[in-house]
Amino acid sequence: AAAPVAGDKRVLLAAPRGYCAGVDRAVIAVEKALEHYGAPVYVRKQIVHNKHVVSTLEERGAVFVEETDEVPEGALVIFSAHGVSPAVVQSAEERNLRTIDATCPLVTKVHREAVRFAKAENHILLIGHEGHEEVEGTFGEAPESTTIVNNPAEARTVEVQDPDRLIWLSQTTLSVDETMEIVNILRERFPNLQDPPSDDICYATSNRQAAIKKIAPQADLVVVVGSANSSNSVRLVEVALEYGAKAAHRVDFANEIDEAWFEGVASVGVTSGASVPEVLVQDVLRLLAEYGYAQVDEVVTAEEDILFSLPKELRAKLKEAG
Ligand code: SF4
Repeated sequence: AAAPVAGDKRVLLAAPRGYCAGVDRAVIAVEKALEHYGAPVYVRKQIVHNKHVVSTLEERGAVFVEETDEVPEGALVIFSAHGVSPAVVQSAEERNLRTIDATCPLVTKVHREAVRFAKAENHILLIGHEGHEEVEGTFGEAPESTTIVNNPAEARTVEVQDPDRLIWLSQTTLSVDETMEIVNILRERFPNLQDPPSDDICYATSNRQAAIKKIAPQADLVVVVGSANSSNSVRLVEVALEYGAKAAHRVDFANEIDEAWFEGVASVGVTSGASVPEVLVQDVLRLLAEYGYAQVDEVVTAEEDILFSLPKELRAKLKEAG
């Protein structure tokens, strides 16, 4: 097909986008728990950071709580994809809660690194956003040995006791570029800073950022579908702007799209965060078609075929049920 001439209205649809393997697994875990144990099934924190997913599961009998002390003694509680600190596991045990741990295996990997490096008497600089559930969980593995570094400014000022026993780890859903910037600042200050054994930013985060980087320079507008508390979705907006999109907005639902955004816009980039079901993207595409952006070109920068098996507690239960 001939390249569209300037002025043609079109959508550049990022691939990969949307659900990652960790989110898929966590959502299925709640669905299967509802099926096999019956409602209510308690979930500590939002199972994944998406409004639509949470309200859909709520309708089916999931009860979302902030802390395990809101769960009745002896009931079933699921830990969200973002992971929990050992203190949370302990408090659930003390209250005799039955637990299903839906922590993404790629988050668990970072927890294991934190435990291992702290045991070997290293200090950990954990790059991530303080207050985000994942960071709370990872930090909680070795609170005495961990300092959170939120941004480049903190990398310039953070103090450590022994700069020769120092490693950095990170949240899984950060901007790849900003994380490298932070690491470079840290390494300049602490030349013996060790790298983690493998990337902590997960494949889904980096693939979604790579796809939008390819689209952004040609996009007059980028629409990112994702919730405000979804770290990787918010990063997609930032990355789109950094890579040349003239404007970028995040929406939970198609009805948040403002017609005024389309003034003089030919190419619209569309992507979605790792916690976003594809139906929400399809809603956006339908609306864009109504606005005249009916031509959709998918921009594929990677293929993903990762799948995680369900949490072990659930696998045992499903086996039992035959
Ligand atoms: Fe796991 Fe990455 Fe998905 Fe988070 S974004 S749940 S770390 S695969």
